[in-house]
Amino acid sequence: MVSLNPEQLLRYKNQLTLPSMSPQAQLKLLSGSALILGLDGTGSSVAKHLAKAGIGQIGLVDSKERCESAISELCTLNPDVKVVGHSLDFDSHNAESVIGEYDVIVDSLADWQSKLLASDVSMHLDKSLVHGGLFGFSCQVYAMVPGRSACLRCVLPLVGLEDVPMEKLSADFAPTVEIAAAMQASAVIRLIAGLGGIGGASLIQFDARTLETSVIRELSARADCPDCGRS
Ligand SMILES: [Zn+2]
Repeated sequence: MVSLNPEQLLRYKNQLTLPSMSPQAQLKLLSGSALILGLDGTGSSVAKHLAKAGIGQIGLVDSKERCESAISELCTLNPDVKVVGHSLDFDSHNAESVIGEYDVIVDSLADWQSKLLASDVSMHLDKSLVHGGLFGFSCQVYAMVPGRSACLRCVLPLVGLEDVPMEKLSADFAPTVEIAAAMQASAVIRLIAGLGGIGGASLIQFDARTLETSVIRELSARADCPDCGRS
């Protein structure tokens, strides 16, 4: 039976004191993988959280320069982690092959058409996707689990985003980016380690102007949708 070696027991000793974070859960993280779509926005911060937590393989989709710089930083954070750069423009030609290699997908894309493509392909390949959306001071995070969750196409009208913004009206507030990244990383870690708590039917919104969060619930798969209803 595989177990944590003495170096790993030392490296993860704080994390291992958390409720339900057993050595078995840590081993699941070490044998798990996550793909980060886009290093702008929340992506680079999510990657750091995942590397520190010991996700065994982290894939990065962005330009060659950004991937290379992130790879050297992440590898110094945790030598247990293998980081793979996919320097490509994420589109319908490469989405299936790159998403297909990983357990959980992180949406840190800026463009809403690409976000919808990531949702479609993740649903099709039965991969959980942790969506992050940034809107200046506010953000939203949604963990989409095939078989349980509505797809992103079904969710957007329910959260008042029928007409997804084609371009950003403002920059994103840096602390909001970090909060969204931390929420996304938490969802990825819980999904891969099998810690529970991610029901897949709730979207969290946070507004840094008021420090208020709201939760939109009951975002279950819709039987009439060809994407989320299929599974
Ligand atoms: Zn749907």
